[in-house]
Amino acid sequence: KKYVYLFSEGNATMRELLGGKGANLAEMTHIGLPVPQGFTVTTEACTQYYEDGRKINDDIQAQIMEYIDKMESITGKKFGDKNNPLLVSVRSGARASMPGMMDTILNLGLNEEVVEVMSEMSGNPRWAWDCYRRFIQMYSDVVMEVGKKYFEELIDKMKAEKGVTQDVDLTADDLKTLAGQFKAEYKSKIGQDFPSDPKEQLMGAVEAVFRSWDNPRANVYRRDNDIPYSWGTAVNVQMMAFGNMGDDCGTGVAFTRDPATGEPGLMGEFLTNAQGEDVVAGVRTPMPIAEMADKFPEAFKQFNEVCATLEDHYRDMQDMEFTVEHGKLFMLQTRNGKRTAKAALKIACDLVDEGMIDKKQAVAMIDPRNLDTLLHPQFDTKALKAATPMGKGLGASPGAACGRAVFTAEDADAWNARGEKVVLVRLETSPEDITGMKASQGILTVRGGMTSHAAVVARGMGTCCVSGCGDIIMDEANKKFTLGGKTFHEGDYISIDGSTGNIYDGIIPTVDAEIAGEFGRIMAWADEFRTLKVRTNADTPADAKKARELGAEGIGLCRTEHMFFEAERIAAFREMICADTVEEREAALAKILPYQQGDFEKLYEALEGNPVCIRFLDPPLHEFVPTEEADIAALAKAQGKTVEDIKNIISSLHEFNPMMGHRGCRLAVTYPEIAKMQTAAVIRAAINVKKAHPDWNIVPEIMIPLTGEVKEMKYVKDVVVATADAEIAAAGADLKYEVGTMMEIPRACLTADEIATEAEFFCFGTNDLTQMTFGFSRDDAGKFLTAYYDKKIYENDPFAKLDQNGVGKLMKMAVKLGKETRPNIHCGICGEHGGDPVSVEFCHNIGLDYVSCSPFRVPIARLAAAQAAI
Ligand code: PEP
Ligand code: MG
Repeated sequence: KKYVYLFSEGNATMRELLGGKGANLAEMTHIGLPVPQGFTVTTEACTQYYEDGRKINDDIQAQIMEYIDKMESITGKKFGDKNNPLLVSVRSGARASMPGMMDTILNLGLNEEVVEVMSEMSGNPRWAWDCYRRFIQMYSDVVMEVGKKYFEELIDKMKAEKGVTQDVDLTADDLKTLAGQFKAEYKSKIGQDFPSDPKEQLMGAVEAVFRSWDNPRANVYRRDNDIPYSWGTAVNVQMMAFGNMGDDCGTGVAFTRDPATGEPGLMGEFLTNAQGEDVVAGVRTPMPIAEMADKFPEAFKQFNEVCATLEDHYRDMQDMEFTVEHGKLFMLQTRNGKRTAKAALKIACDLVDEGMIDKKQAVAMIDPRNLDTLLHPQFDTKALKAATPMGKGLGASPGAACGRAVFTAEDADAWNARGEKVVLVRLETSPEDITGMKASQGILTVRGGMTSHAAVVARGMGTCCVSGCGDIIMDEANKKFTLGGKTFHEGDYISIDGSTGNIYDGIIPTVDAEIAGEFGRIMAWADEFRTLKVRTNADTPADAKKARELGAEGIGLCRTEHMFFEAERIAAFREMICADTVEEREAALAKILPYQQGDFEKLYEALEGNPVCIRFLDPPLHEFVPTEEADIAALAKAQGKTVEDIKNIISSLHEFNPMMGHRGCRLAVTYPEIAKMQTAAVIRAAINVKKAHPDWNIVPEIMIPLTGEVKEMKYVKDVVVATADAEIAAAGADLKYEVGTMMEIPRACLTADEIATEAEFFCFGTNDLTQMTFGFSRDDAGKFLTAYYDKKIYENDPFAKLDQNGVGKLMKMAVKLGKETRPNIHCGICGEHGGDPVSVEFCHNIGLDYVSCSPFRVPIARLAAAQAAI
């Protein structure tokens, strides 16, 4: 099997095998761009590495060395040769880009002997020793996991001794001394000499890339981004181009359009006399790319041409890395750039207007999950006007955040777990901070530009971020910082604006986002292509209205028990629960009926004739019983019972396994009067609203929860139908209605053909269906799922991402069986999965009619449904 490909052997379609970076390096080679040549070790080699028990087998090693030979003949340089050494970079590149997750090694192939000669022959000893000390640093960190901080401390010490502030001010001798110190550090940590054999270095580096596929950060990122573990990563070995050979050299990162706003025009950063990571690591503050025009006119002109070629070729905004060596441009990477949701929409629309892509492609190129950020909070405008920023950084990732300052990722995690909202304040972030960044409302960094780790990762997460606020005087060790003359300690409130970069002292309230601009255009295109309807899960008229604004085409689930959380209502509800006799219960239900009817009327009003599906009472009743003595006493009084009686009733409601207990349609089977009351409320509400709006097509959908057996469905349906028909007749109205069921119990799916004899629609309640199929509790699974992720038993939380193999199979079977009995049965989903893009695609594929999700996920579902249909 071929495990290694020269860049000249691959192309952009080979992303699965070569990874994104490798495929694009190959493609750039083909279209004649200046790419330092090299080769890609395939993702299959990575998979093989894991299959072989984390070993690079002899075959793969031999192929890698064979390709080093080929590189030697292409470049005329030799690996380990003193006079003409081949130096390479080793970089990871998975199919989907995973920024900050994997690590890079530069200048591989150097050793003491080579560097001495290189230093002499080049007449540029500073460069030679800079390369070597960087190599030792990166190799130690990435391959041997010595940890960056020891090396950074040594550099800081050296700078202090020499009285300089910038790395570039260190001399060749300083760097040589540092390289020596680094190697000593390596030896003291690892117990072995730093490897001097380039082949050993190379295998170590390739293995480190493979290994990094399985590091905890990568696993978290994959889980968040639907990237399967099985894909593996490729490794790219590329001849070095040097940006650190002097002031006519440098390195840069740029986007062809602004990744924050989508505005056309080059945007990026460039650092003179620097290498690789320097720009993104935020070690020095880079210059805006436009300034290159003065300092590197030739290379800048060529770079602009390359940008135009790449955009034209890929028909998308590109994110590129490049190096200038003695004025000559080298392209190190290109990829479709990560962008904010706002930028994604603008770029897609602009590309359509520029005639680069069509509407379908525009809809397909937007990551639905990204839309979330458009729906994220912004500062309240009035409060914002009244506030004066105390400092300013770069608006790196939009949105507004307000929280208490914490200084480490671990603290962010811990405070968040306690329910505190936090803003993570760091000198700069690094990949190990990822979980802490996720736990934060916002991220504020002292160093780093728009392409820094913090900026890129926050943007991807949709988390607000202000980066590069150099005015902050940071004291990470003592968990405090000073800005605008004031010192902030851990726990102090700050607010940051990820769009303007402003930083504020104290709390500024946030408000919901308002959707505008290109959003409507893209959504309208999405609606043209999708066949799946999108409804919402809404229990209150306010939720329903919000969801309608966001494009919901109906209510897929109204959880009626959620209408009873308010004090006045819960009293009546408790009377119903603690009733001893049918009469008592009916009396309590009579008090509840007007509330329900009123709510339902408002829902019908809000939905303006679109479908409204109302689910009958579902939860274990004891969830609603009083626990406070005063509440118990009040209930006793209202019921004319003793406190003792009420306490007895409460304890009789106790269940060992309430999720599998007296809930769902079992409530209606034991207390049909509940179903009667709810039916009356639904039908009366529908009749009233229809009277006011005769042109609205109101067809109430009554949904019975937790059905597992057709006879129980029939029993409850008979109660509903008898009540509904009587109500309609009494009102002299003309009203159609439907009675259907939630599909939440595996047995319902297995016997869906029978259930469909009664049910007029199915709606998959995949929260319960997942719980009952896996046999683990939706409330407690979090406690042990982490162990399952760590052991690679599950890659995702099945409550967030539909388990297509198991739960999905049941759904598929149920749809098929249901349609055999009742060809026009309509089917939907209203579990949490209804707003998850991958799950939405699955729902489309198995022929559901609609998905239903929480209001803020409606746009995501609309887009995902369109993409599924394209
Ligand atoms: C479900 O089980 O998927 C569902 C939507 O119902 P609930 O979450 O209310 O149990
Ligand atoms: Mg349920």
